[in-house]
Amino acid sequence: MVITAGIDVGSTATKAVIFDGTIRSMAIIPTGWNPKETGRTVFLEALNNAGLQERDVDTVVGTGYGRVSLSFIDKKVTEITCHAKGARFLFPQTRTVIDIGGQDSKVIAVAEDGSVADFIMNDKCAAGTGRFLQVMTGILDISLDELGQMASGSKPVSINSMCTVFAESEIIGLLAQGVTKEAISSGIVQTIANKMISLTSKISCLEEITFSGGVANNPEICVILSSSFGAKFNIANQPQIVGALGAAIVGFENYRERGNKDAIRNVM
Ligand code: ADP
Repeated sequence: MVITAGIDVGSTATKAVIFDGTIRSMAIIPTGWNPKETGRTVFLEALNNAGLQERDVDTVVGTGYGRVSLSFIDKKVTEITCHAKGARFLFPQTRTVIDIGGQDSKVIAVAEDGSVADFIMNDKCAAGTGRFLQVMTGILDISLDELGQMASGSKPVSINSMCTVFAESEIIGLLAQGVTKEAISSGIVQTIANKMISLTSKISCLEEITFSGGVANNPEICVILSSSFGAKFNIANQPQIVGALGAAIVGFENYRERGNKDAIRNVM
């Protein structure tokens, strides 16, 4: 049996998946200041969750912005490729992946054969990313989960500042005016959704959509986005591990095809 691992070192969270044709286990931990060590820790945690040892794993593939820091892996692959792979495994008809992570958001167009046809990425600005949510929950003194609950079914207050720093001041002002945390939470969620909708307008967004990344844990954002596109809209049970899953699948497919881990070093 071929067993592989995928490790996604993100700006905010580091994820690992152990894969044998199915998802054997996973682990998610904050990236912190030392991505190299975190990558190793999350790998060991995922192995432990699967009841496996390091020697049981045939190949390890790294992805995410911090993949360059991983010295123990066999191959590095871009997160664009990995998100497309992971999304297609979970939802085989996926033609568009939208991903909102800690510090970037992206839209990936997937060809019929599963390869990446095109992509667009916003990594210049924290607005519209998980970082924006984290800053705002800090001001409201609530958790990310509470923000999701408060936003649900509340009428959103309009948040006009797109920049995270200005939006922070705007929200402090709204609180001072007595606007409820529910209305502000709803406004924050709407702002993130609007950013994503505007990003998707820059790429031809096709048919079935799969939403990945940590921000897809917010149910209200899922509701707004799913009703904004005239397409089937999928959300993974664990949206944060889609990139790590894709990395593990790249390793799995190549190892199985070629029968050794050296061969996968040549794969894009
Ligand atoms: P990255 O790969 O860039 O580290 P992730 O896809 O791991 O990004 O997502 C991290 C982001 O997920 C965090 O910035 C956080 O805002 C968001 N997140 C995590 N859990 C939740 C939640 N329950 N509700 C909303 N956002 C969440």
